[in-house]
Amino acid sequence: MTPHTRVFVAGGNTLYGHALTTLLRAEGFESLVGVGTAEPDLTDAAATDAFFAQERPECVFLCAGRSGGIGLNRAAPVELMRDNLLTTLNVLASAHRHGTAKLLYLASSCAYPKHAAQPLQVESLGTGPMEPTSEAYSTAKFAGWKLCDAYRREYGCRFVTGFPANAFGPHDDFTPEGGHVIPALLRRAHDAKSRGDAELVVWGTGAPRREFVYSRDLARACLFVARNYEGEAPINLGGGTDLSIADVAHAVAEVVGFKGRLVFDTTKPDGAPLKALDSAPLLDMGWRPESDFRAALNETYHWFLHHRATEGRTHARRAV
Ligand code: GDP
Repeated sequence: MTPHTRVFVAGGNTLYGHALTTLLRAEGFESLVGVGTAEPDLTDAAATDAFFAQERPECVFLCAGRSGGIGLNRAAPVELMRDNLLTTLNVLASAHRHGTAKLLYLASSCAYPKHAAQPLQVESLGTGPMEPTSEAYSTAKFAGWKLCDAYRREYGCRFVTGFPANAFGPHDDFTPEGGHVIPALLRRAHDAKSRGDAELVVWGTGAPRREFVYSRDLARACLFVARNYEGEAPINLGGGTDLSIADVAHAVAEVVGFKGRLVFDTTKPDGAPLKALDSAPLLDMGWRPESDFRAALNETYHWFLHHRATEGRTHARRAV
C-alpha cells in the first residue's frame, strides 16, 4: 500500500469506519474513495457495483452493516442479519468483479461458539452453537467470513477476515437501547448524574467478562493486517483489556463522575459469559495496542460530551 492506493472504507459511518478513515488520513493516504455522503447504499447491489466500477478501489476495509448491543440484537435480529448479509454480498461481489487487490472483512467475536475454550482461537470457529441473544447477527458475520474464504478458493481473491474484540470509541451508538455496554453505560451514567439519581442500573449480573479494544487501536490493527497478513486463516484483532462488566461499570461511573450506587438488574440477560480473543498470531507479527483503557474511556466520554450528550434518543436506529 502506498499513499496513492485507492482505499475504500465500506461502512465509513460505523465505529470502526470512522476510526479507520481518521487513521488512514493521518497516515497520509490521499486517495480515500466513498467517504461520507459519497458512500453508496451498500445494501443496493446495483448502486454498489456502479460505485466500484467508477472508483475501482484497490484496497477495501469492509466494516459495513448494522450492529449493536445485546438490546438491539434481541429487538431487531432481522434488520441486523439482513443488513449484514446484503452489504457483505454486494461489497464482496463488486470487489471481485472490479479487481480489488486486497480486502479486509471485519467479522465479530460474537460468531464464536458460546462455550468455546478461552481465550478464543480461530480454530474454534464453527465448532459449537453461538450465543442465542446475537445469533442472527453472528450467523451473518460467520457467513461473511465463509464467503471471503470461498472467493479466495474459487477466484484467488486476497480477501482476509479479521475477528475484532469488543470495540468502543468516538462515533459509537450511545443510546441505552441500541448501544454496546460501554457507550450505553456512559450515556446512562451521564443522564443519571445530570438528574442527581441515587442509583445506576447495570444490566445482568456484572459477572460476564469481555475483552475491550479502543477503536483507534482496532483501526491500527486493521491497517497492520492489510499491510502484512495474507494468510488463509482468519485473524483475531484483540490484544485489548479483559474486564468484568462490573469493573466496566465502576470505571464508567468514575470517568463520568457519577457518585451514586450501582445496582445489577439480573432480569436482563448476561449474554456470553466470557469473550476474550487469543491474539497471539497478531502479536507475534509485531503489532501492539497503544491505548490505556481508562484513558480511552475518558476520551470516549469527552467525545460524547461534545457531540451527543445533548441529543435525544433519535440515534437508536443509527448504524454503529
Ligand atoms: P455482547 O458483548 O454482545 O454481549 O454485547 P453488549 O456490549 O451489549 O453487552 C455486554 C454485557 O454488558 C452483557 O452482559 C450486558 O448484559 C451487560 N450490560 C450491562 N449494562 C448494559 C447496558 O446498559 N447496555 C448493554 N448493551 N449491555 C449492558
